[in-house]
Parts: sequence; structure tokens; C-alpha cells
Amino acid sequence: MSAADTVLRTEGLTKSFGGVHAVDGATTEFYEGKINGLIGPNGSGKTTFFNCVTGMIRPDSGTVTMHGKDVTRWAPHKIARAGLGRSFQLCRVFPRMTVLENMLVAVQPRTLGEYLGNTRSTETVEKARAMLARVGIDHLEAAEARDISYGQQKLLELGSTLMTDPPFVMLDEPAGGVNPSLIERIALLVRELNDEGTTFLIVEHNMDLIMSLCDHIVVFDRGRPIATGTPDVVKSDPKVLEAYLGV
Ligand code: ADP
Repeated sequence: MSAADTVLRTEGLTKSFGGVHAVDGATTEFYEGKINGLIGPNGSGKTTFFNCVTGMIRPDSGTVTMHGKDVTRWAPHKIARAGLGRSFQLCRVFPRMTVLENMLVAVQPRTLGEYLGNTRSTETVEKARAMLARVGIDHLEAAEARDISYGQQKLLELGSTLMTDPPFVMLDEPAGGVNPSLIERIALLVRELNDEGTTFLIVEHNMDLIMSLCDHIVVFDRGRPIATGTPDVVKSDPKVLEAYLGV
């Protein structure tokens, strides 16, 4: 694939904690219009990579390019505001707000004053309700976020991430701690949104989910990619089996 198709590229990305090379010179590419996946065994550097890319932590060296723009060391809100990408992790739910309020607050920078002032237009509320229906929790709109299940909170996070119609969505462990029927719902939604043009990068430990959902997969081990390609290609790569099974 050509550079024009690249939604995210890292070059020599490195982040150490003390003596631990969590991300160790990772050069990767993820593609526009695809459901991209990043997998790897525990401790292989996935979360650190994700956090470096989304601006949650600063890499020691290397570059991050998103939609052709060098966003290395940009703050997460700046990446989101530029419409480049939005991460699931950024959208923590507000436990004492209702489900609907959580959706409304997502369309504004996170200051309550602005939220109260500007977001309650009928159009925004309609959009929030439609999105809640899409993620399957519209019946819970009046519940406080702290009273719904963990899986439902994940759906709420996903729904609120989608309120701004981001072209590129990064999801960190969307299936972690979520029951199988809700995982299936998340997977279905990701497929639908991808059909409508949204690009995804999903960082996940759940190998089955990534293999069934993704078009393009990068497998990490010890802070860098060891295999790249379609599910079939990476599944049959001996280096991947070795990393996962330690054989
Ligand atoms: P994964 O998400 O693939 O499980 P992580 O990125 O969480 O991997 O961790 C990669 C390595 O970096 C591990 O050895 C982990 O212990 C270490 N690590 C991650 N975050 C920190 C931190 N904040 N302080 C010290 N070590 C860390």
C-alpha cells in the first residue's frame, strides 16, 4: 500500500521506563479505511505504544505521523481537535452524569460551563439518542453512568467517542472485561462504521476478536513488530506462535 493510504505511521518509536524498553524502536504502518489491529502477548508494549500514539505519554524518541501530519508529542485533545483521531480511552465516563449527559458532554471540550451553555441543542440531543440506540443502550439514557454495567459503560464510551464523527478511532482493549454478547455488539458496530468509512486501530489482547475483525494486523513482541499482514498471514507466522506460546 502507498503512503497516501497510511492513516498512522510510527518510525523508530521508543519509550523506556527505567531499564525496561517498553516500546523499542517500533516502525509501523496502519491503513486508511481499514480495521487495523495491534496484538501481542502481555508486556509486549501495546499499551505503551497506544499511549505514545494518542499523546497520553511522550515517547523518548521516534515520530508519530497521523493523516500525514507529524503529531509526535501532541497532547491528546489537540490530536482530537484537529480531527485526526479519537481514542476510546480518552472518553472515560462521568459516573454521576446520566448516560445521555455523558453523550452530550462528548461533543464539547471537557469543561462543564461550555457543556451547559452550548450542547443542549435539539439536534445534538437527537444525535446522542440515535447514537445510544446504535450502541444498544438507549433504554438507559436516564440512568447514571455509575449504575450501568461495565460492558454498558464501554458501549457508552464508544458511543460518546463517535459523537464527533471522528474519521479515525483508536480503541484500547475494547473487549477487556466485557461479556461475549457485548463483545459481539462492539464487533458488529465496528464493522458497520468501517463500512461507512471510519478507520479503526484496535489494540487488543483477545486474539480471536482481532483475527475475526481486522483487515491488517501488526503483532508486537518486546516493544516492536515481529509480524505484519492479514489475519491469515500473521496466524501462520512461526514468530507469532513463538511469541504467544513461548515455543
Ligand atoms: P502490554 O500492553 O502489551 O501488556 P505494556 O505497554 O503495558 O505492554 O508494558 C510493556 C512493558 O513496559 C512491561 O514490561 C511493563 O511492565 C513495562 N511498563 C509499562 N508501563 C510502565 C510504567 N509506567 N512504569 C514501569 N514500567 C512500565
